[in-house]
Amino acid sequence: MELRRFRADLHLHTCLSPCGELSMSPHAVVDRALAAGLDIIAVTDHNTTENAAAVIEAARGTKLAVLPGIELTTAEEVHILGLFDSGADLGPFQAAVYSNLPDVPSKKKFVKDQVLVDAEDYVTGFSPRCLFGATLFSVHDAVGLIHGHGGLAIACHVDRESFSIVSQLGFIPPGLALDAVEISPRLTFAEAREALGPFDPLPMVRFSDAHKPEEIGCAVTDIFVASPSLEEIRKALAGEGGRRVIPS
Ligand SMILES: [Zn+2]
Ligand SMILES: [Zn+2]
Repeated sequence: MELRRFRADLHLHTCLSPCGELSMSPHAVVDRALAAGLDIIAVTDHNTTENAAAVIEAARGTKLAVLPGIELTTAEEVHILGLFDSGADLGPFQAAVYSNLPDVPSKKKFVKDQVLVDAEDYVTGFSPRCLFGATLFSVHDAVGLIHGHGGLAIACHVDRESFSIVSQLGFIPPGLALDAVEISPRLTFAEAREALGPFDPLPMVRFSDAHKPEEIGCAVTDIFVASPSLEEIRKALAGEGGRRVIPS
């Protein structure tokens, strides 16, 4: 099977995230991703997958592949990215997340509106929960939950001074079954290795963590795979069959 390069930005937020700009609507995300030359994106709102289907639908008929995902906040306030197959039924996963996310209403003073949208960019509702809160999951539970629903688990922005596994725990716990570690756009791949040391055998990836359209694609990882599917990305992270990831 022929492998080719897919330019991936697998960490970005929509208008549903409390810190995401209202302008991060499905069509705005898709248009900007295409303009930035991306081949594959993942929709990773805080503690919710509810806007992902709208972005997948908005990209239908374009050359952009879209994976549903999440940025889970663990009890230790560590952010863990979960990436799933585009055909996955995430209802049971989302139900498990919500039943472990304290149901306190958002304080409007501190967060932006959490906007649910459809594939035509119409507002369908507002999430009443404080989506930025910490779930009751430990990092081990979070990784286990993501894997249990067929996903990939990646430690987010490990170079950042807040909400990263390194900032919160000081290290990656032995036995934590992560699939990769992500560095933020603030550092190059080389700078991250210099500052943090290698995370071997875990591969490093680098994504934008975009909260506004102009940030989409500001950090990308090239993935050499046969097709832009979760299964192929899984093989690339594991270095199987010539598949590989190259942060750029
Ligand atoms: Zn984060
Ligand atoms: Zn994020």
